[in-house]
Formats: sequence, structure tokens, C-alpha cells
Amino acid sequence: MDRLYIVVPCYKEEEVLPETSKRLKAKLEELARTGQITPDSRVLFVDDGSTDRTWEIIAALHRQDETFSGVKLSRNRGHQNALLAGMEEAARHGDVIITMDADLQDDIDAVDRMLEKYQEGCEVVYGVRSSRAKDTFFKRFTAHGYYRFMQAMGVDIVYDHADYRLMSRRAVEALMSFSEVNLFLRGMVPLVGFKSDTVLYERGERFAGESKYPLKKMIAFALDGITSFSVKPIRLILNLGIAIFVVAAVILLYSLIRKLCGQTVSGWTSLVCSIWALGGIQLLALGVIGEYIGKIYNETKRRPRYIIETVLDDSTEDAGAIK
Ligand code: UDP
Ligand code: MG
Repeated sequence: MDRLYIVVPCYKEEEVLPETSKRLKAKLEELARTGQITPDSRVLFVDDGSTDRTWEIIAALHRQDETFSGVKLSRNRGHQNALLAGMEEAARHGDVIITMDADLQDDIDAVDRMLEKYQEGCEVVYGVRSSRAKDTFFKRFTAHGYYRFMQAMGVDIVYDHADYRLMSRRAVEALMSFSEVNLFLRGMVPLVGFKSDTVLYERGERFAGESKYPLKKMIAFALDGITSFSVKPIRLILNLGIAIFVVAAVILLYSLIRKLCGQTVSGWTSLVCSIWALGGIQLLALGVIGEYIGKIYNETKRRPRYIIETVLDDSTEDAGAIK
């Protein structure tokens, strides 16, 4: 039997934590009763630098019940970093790790099926949404377009899979050996390899509080995903550059011939147009290159990906670890 750790990143989730903790506890008890996990399995809440009472609630839960552990990051580092911090801590004590959102949008009953796949030898089990009926049209449309675009860019991601997944300790440890700073776990986990499978689930609505992923964060996340995993945008720019160079050469030749034939016209319009067009393309190219240079800059700094302030877990003493 294996010890399960459920890792839940929380950013300003005071409204959902009481209910979430109750339901997760019930789930763990049920799984322990049926012998799928050991009774000392845990729920690990990661407080991603919340400014509300999230950490007080986690600390209180931990005091009342040893099922609940907590990790507090020293400041808000974003969902992906919080997830990784929790997974790393969980892999120290647990045999199998499941990550899910605090708002229980991910159906927790899929955990049973994930564990079954794990028993069958899968080291990574992806939770995949069976439908997006409850999403807004805009979210559904942009998300699907995005997945398709990622695939076209050569990034291996699982369609309609968010960060609801099971990983064995071994898989998490392998993931830890990726030392990149720009985290996009959806793209990184498939690179880890091992036997994997998917489990379908119905994604519900957030039952309280509001989304911590406003459009701005979502776009930043999507762009990060592309530029962290694919160099195709650079190649596209390069190809565009070559194509324009060829066109420019043809136009040069053409205008020279026209001039030699004595048919010159003072083409102010075309001149201004081409200056603008080329200027725009150059700026675009510079922007894309700048994006990658920014990434290189961040990676070479080797900054810690997160800093843990406190760990509340009965099986550990170390606090203040820098990872
Ligand atoms: N989250 C986090 N740090 C952040 C933003 C979000 O840890 O900076 C957590 C949040 O508490 C939740 C999960 O990430 O557990 C997903 O966020 P949310 O449910 O708001 O996103 P949505 O489901 O709307 O995409
Ligand atoms: Mg949510």
C-alpha cells in the first residue's frame, strides 16, 4: 500500500478551504478504508503568498488534524511554482502525489480511477476534461485554439489536461531534475516519460470565491508555454525574413529594369509603405528574439524557484528551505 499526498496550491482561497479540506479528508478516509492508500496519507496545502486568511486556516487545520499539512511560500510565485513546491515537499514523504486545484473544479472522485491506473503500473496519470460544457464560450474557444497551436509548434501536451494529475514519487523526482525557471508543468511532465495514462472527468464550476486566473495571467501563461517549449517562432521569423529578402530582391531588379527603360515614377507612397512594413517586421522579429533572450537571462541567473517559509507536517522538521 502506498502513502498518498494530495497537493493543493492555494492563493487567497479562504472561502473554499473549509469545504475543500472536509471533502478531501472524507476522500482520504474512504480510500484508506478500501485499502487503496495508507491511513497516514495527507493533504498538503501550499499557500502561495496569500494576503488573506488562507495560511491561518491551513495552520488551524494542521493543528486540529494531522491529515492536513501545509507549506507557506514567502510570497506569491504563481500557480506553477506553488505546485512544484508542494510536489517536491510531498515527494519527500509520500509514494504517490496528486495535484489539484483548491476550488474543487476537478472532480475528486477521479482520484479513485487515477489510483487504479497507478496500481496497474502507471507513473503519471493525467486528468483530462471530458467536456467543457461549463466553461464560457470564450474560454472553450481560446483553450482549444491554444492546444492546437501548441501541437502545431511541436510541443507535446495532453489535450484538455490542466494540472490535475497523479505522479509517482519517482516521476516527481525526475521532474525535479529539470532546473528551468520558467515553469510550464503541462509541457514538462510528458518529457519525464514513464508509463502514463489518462482519466476522464467532468470539470465543475468553482463553488466559492473567484478565479485567480484573470485574462492577463492566462495570456502570460499561454505565451510562457509557447516560448518555453518551442523555438519554432524564431524559425518562422527567420523564414519570413528570407521570404521578404527574396521579394525585395525581385522588386529591386524590377525597378532597376523600369528605370533603365526610362519609366520611373516618383513613388513616394510605395517608399513610405515599404519603410513602415519593413520597420514593423523588424520590430516583430526583435520582439520575438527579445522574448527568448529574456528567458536565457532568467535561466542563467539560477534564481530559486520558490522559497519556503514554513512547513507544517508531522513527518518533517525543516523549515525555511530554499529550492
Ligand atoms: N493559484 C495559485 N497561485 C496563483 C493563482 C492561482 O496557487 O497565483 C491556485 C488557486 O488557488 C487554485 C489554482 O491555482 O487552487 C487554480 O486557480 P483558479 O481556480 O483560480 O483558476 P481557474 O480554475 O479559474 O483557471
Ligand atoms: Mg479553478
